[in-house]
Amino acid sequence: MDLSYILNELGEDREHYYNAVSPPIIQSSNFTFNTVAEIRHALADEFEGNLYSRGNNPTVDILRKKLAALDHAEDALIFSSGVAAITVPLLALLKSGDHVIAVKSGYSWTMRFFREFLSKFGVETTFVDGNIFQNFESAAQYNTKLIFLESPNTFTYELQDIKQVAAFAKTRNIITLIDNSYCSAIYQKPILHGIDLVCQSATKYIGGHSDVMAGVLTGSRQLIKQIFSNEFMNIGAVVSPHSAWLLLRGLRTLPLRLSRSYATTQIITEWLSNHNAVETVIWPFASTFPQKALAQQQMEGCGGLFSFTLKHSSFQKIEEFCNKLKHILLAVSWGGHESLVMPAISGISQNSYEQTNRHHQLIRMYVGLEDPAYLIDDLQQALSTV
Ligand SMILES: *Cc1c(COP(=O)(O)O)cnc(C)c1O
Repeated sequence: MDLSYILNELGEDREHYYNAVSPPIIQSSNFTFNTVAEIRHALADEFEGNLYSRGNNPTVDILRKKLAALDHAEDALIFSSGVAAITVPLLALLKSGDHVIAVKSGYSWTMRFFREFLSKFGVETTFVDGNIFQNFESAAQYNTKLIFLESPNTFTYELQDIKQVAAFAKTRNIITLIDNSYCSAIYQKPILHGIDLVCQSATKYIGGHSDVMAGVLTGSRQLIKQIFSNEFMNIGAVVSPHSAWLLLRGLRTLPLRLSRSYATTQIITEWLSNHNAVETVIWPFASTFPQKALAQQQMEGCGGLFSFTLKHSSFQKIEEFCNKLKHILLAVSWGGHESLVMPAISGISQNSYEQTNRHHQLIRMYVGLEDPAYLIDDLQQALSTV
């Protein structure tokens, strides 16, 4: 399906709403029926049709169709946050006694869900270094039900060989779920590499303007229907029609925003690599990145998120540098129009800071849509102080 068709037309029945170009926000919790027979039919299968907005809503449905098509998936579910799009399928697919293999350096709340939440319900997780494929083979047990990937992650950008892991999982009847937030469907299509389910934080690139929280899950109709009919309906972490509309609006410019951010990131990472106050730059498409070949093999482009370290990486110097930035904002999250930094030291006290620990030294930067020269000027003036 053509990308332009998906973003501009798919799912939009304009004749049903006055030929309006922009779809309506159907701000309604429920939908009426003419007869008891009709409502009985709707209740029997909430997956089809509009009955109650915790299940389906027409504005959300347009988004569902587009996001499924972008991922080359049969269907999609939209959640109130990225975290819900990760945890709801895990709750749906796992039961007490099951075993999971997960990458060890994934998103913090995902790691916490495996470590502290699923463990309470008798689901055991083995965390592996996902850079090495053999680690997945060695960790597999008779009761391994699911493999969780996040490639690349959003701090150190480690990759997994998606095709190889998916093929292995298939031979063992293990379900694969990947967090694809870093690339989005524009730069990585895990389903085409054999992955079963793809989740992502729509709060990041899909929303794209730092004004909406949501998550997406895509996969086969059978798996999506199974998750919808049970945990999705039961946990109820659904997106509002208004948020769905903001996401539709974000989608119109998704490829444009990504290519702008990607192009500027190439300029910024190269500029930083050549700066004498900078020690290392970590970005999957950087020439020095150890997994660059794999990145270029399975990603069609690269995200605007990277990390770097300073030559003089004392706790104070990192803090000084970040405080000096005038235009690049200090904040969590990423994927919006605005450039951001987030140093690892914001989560570490000065006493526990280890100057030789590279993870402690990392400064994460997200490159937004600003002019590259404007960002370089800001970095230059802040670097000149350290
Ligand atoms: C932000 C993020 C999430 C969580 O998404 P929310 O929308 O904040 O719930 C999950 N995974 C990754 C990689 C993220 O960056």
